[in-house]
Amino acid sequence: PAPGPAGPPPPPPPPGARAPRGRPAAAAPPGPAAGCRRRAAARCTSHRVRSHRVPCTPAGCMLMIEDQLGKDLSGKNAVIIGRSNIVGKPMASLLLKANATVTVCHSRTADLPDVARKADILVAAVGRPEMVKGEWIKPGAVVIDVGINRIEVEVDGETKNRLVGDVDFVEAQSVVGAITPVPGGVGPMTIVMLMSNTLQSAERAV
Ligand code: NAP
Repeated sequence: PAPGPAGPPPPPPPPGARAPRGRPAAAAPPGPAAGCRRRAAARCTSHRVRSHRVPCTPAGCMLMIEDQLGKDLSGKNAVIIGRSNIVGKPMASLLLKANATVTVCHSRTADLPDVARKADILVAAVGRPEMVKGEWIKPGAVVIDVGINRIEVEVDGETKNRLVGDVDFVEAQSVVGAITPVPGGVGPMTIVMLMSNTLQSAERAV
C-alpha cells in the first residue's frame, strides 16, 4: 500500500533487540491541553500567552485567587512554597503577570514560616502532609492548597487512608480569609481547566 501522510510504519524490531531508549509511549507526558510541557512555565511569563496553553493547575489556582481578590494583585505579597515546573514556577509567572510581588520558596529556604507569614496569597505546592501550620499564615490571607497527600489514620481501631493537603486545614481555618479544601479544591479546578484547554484547543484546530 502507498505510504500515508506520515510515511510507512517502522519495521518491527528484530528478535532479541533491546527496547528503544527513552520514555515509553504509555508514560508520555500530557499534551499541550494540560499545559504540562517543559516550556509551559516559561510561556506563562509572556503577556501574550493564550489562555488554553497555561498549565491547568496554576490556571485553576489563579481563577480562585481572582475570585477572592480580583484580577489586579498590585500591592499583594504572594508566597509560593514549591518550585516545580508543573506548579510552582508557572504559578509564580501568573501571579507576577497579575502584578503581585512574588516570593518562591523551596526546601533550601531559610525561616520558611516567617516568609509565609508575609503572604497575602499563600500557595502551598510541596507534597508534605499538613506542613503549613496555622501560625505560618497571615490573618485574612488567601490560601491555595495544591498538595494531595495520602495519610493513614486510625478510625475505630481500623487503619484507613485519608487525603490531606500541604496545609493544616483545621489550624488554618480560623486564620485565613479563604482557603481551598483538600480534597475538593484545586483538584476539581484542575480538571475544569483541562476540559477548558481541550475545548479551546479543539476549537482552534477546526
Ligand atoms: P514536586 O515537583 O515534588 O515539588 C515539590 C516542591 O516542594 C519542590 O520545589 C521542593 O523543593 C519543595 N519542598 C519539598 N520539601 C520542602 C520543605 N520541607 N520546605 C520547603 N519546600 C519544600 O511537587 P509538585 O509536582 O509541584 O506537587 C506538589 C504537590 O501538589 C504534591 O502533593 C502533588 O500531588 C500536588 N499536585 C496537585 C495537583 C492538583 O491538581 N491538585 C496538581 C499537581 C500537583 P526543592 O525544589 O528544593 O526540592
